[in-house]
Amino acid sequence: MAGSDELYDLVIIGGGPGGLSAAIYAMRAALKTALVEKGVTGGQVTMSDEVENYPGFVHISGAELSMKFTQHAQSYDLDMISQEVTALDPGLDHHTVRLANGDTLKTHAVILATGGSPRKLDVIGERELYGKGVSYCATCDGFFFRGKTVVVIGGGDSAAEEALYLAKLCKKVYIAHRRDELRASKILQQRIFNDCNIEMLWNTVVTEIKAGADGVEQVGLKDTVTADTRELDVDGVFIFIGFNPNNELVPAGTRMNADGMVVTDEKCETRTPGIYVIGDLREKFARQIVLSAADGCTAALAAAHYVEAKTSMLADTCELPPDAAS
Ligand code: NAP
Repeated sequence: MAGSDELYDLVIIGGGPGGLSAAIYAMRAALKTALVEKGVTGGQVTMSDEVENYPGFVHISGAELSMKFTQHAQSYDLDMISQEVTALDPGLDHHTVRLANGDTLKTHAVILATGGSPRKLDVIGERELYGKGVSYCATCDGFFFRGKTVVVIGGGDSAAEEALYLAKLCKKVYIAHRRDELRASKILQQRIFNDCNIEMLWNTVVTEIKAGADGVEQVGLKDTVTADTRELDVDGVFIFIGFNPNNELVPAGTRMNADGMVVTDEKCETRTPGIYVIGDLREKFARQIVLSAADGCTAALAAAHYVEAKTSMLADTCELPPDAAS
């Protein structure tokens, strides 16, 4: 049970693949560990219809993979705390993690694994029609668009995967992409181009989402090359244009790049000793489930060294006889 007097070796904030992998390694390194997650564990991957690039699983749904990660972490005596973290205060003696219910957790080390949230398009109608035809998750909402026409916005892996998922349910799927080339992996591109239910709208941005009586009815489109505009009738708009890192808890003075991702050393450690950042919140070349898991491993092993060094130093100090300094 969490409370003001708890002193942990390690507190992990965030229960996605990175946080859960860190928990597995930390528990196996005998660290007294708590994992704090405000929602359900699993992170963004729970929203993926299919995962095909996590080693060991040729095909697995995001929800099932998340469940396996969670079950694995829970098979150790891990303290899972279902709370929102409101602040992380670094300290010399220990760091303090503050929870929304007023509890505080003192800890030698912290792993921040808070990932990111879907980036918003910031066009008229997006906010107002969220849940009424505007969605950021095809696996969650695709069912409501069976036999209907939708537009997917974006050209990355997420847009491609989600469009392929929607193409199995919908009458017609448009992909509006602002350039004439997709960013998505080649294998996904091939599948998109081979799917006769998907039509690419190249060099196209959505400028407005318009409502009818039952939610989304139309989008305004603009050609990024010719500046021509037109309207397209759709029942749903699925937005996958990347994500913003959830960096609200990152302590002041921590090095971040222009996109708000934290720059760490090879141990995933920040400038503050004992504070590690992993997964999609950490600056890296590619954002993949396997890389978040790898970060979790790295940070947990590094934290184990850090905690051992720190606590053995404290123990040495405590064991000095009173006249030892003379
Ligand atoms: P992403 O790779 O950053 O792609 C975002 C896409 O949205 C890009 O095509 C970008 O266009 C477009 N975009 C950005 N801002 C826009 C705006 N304001 N208006 C219109 N279009 C905009 O994001 P993601 O697809 O969410 O993927 C995030 C990371 O997760 C990536 O590293 C990806 O590889 C990874 N991921 C992997 C898998 C998998 O391997 N199974 C699945 C999903 C995601 P430009 O191309 O012109 O910049």
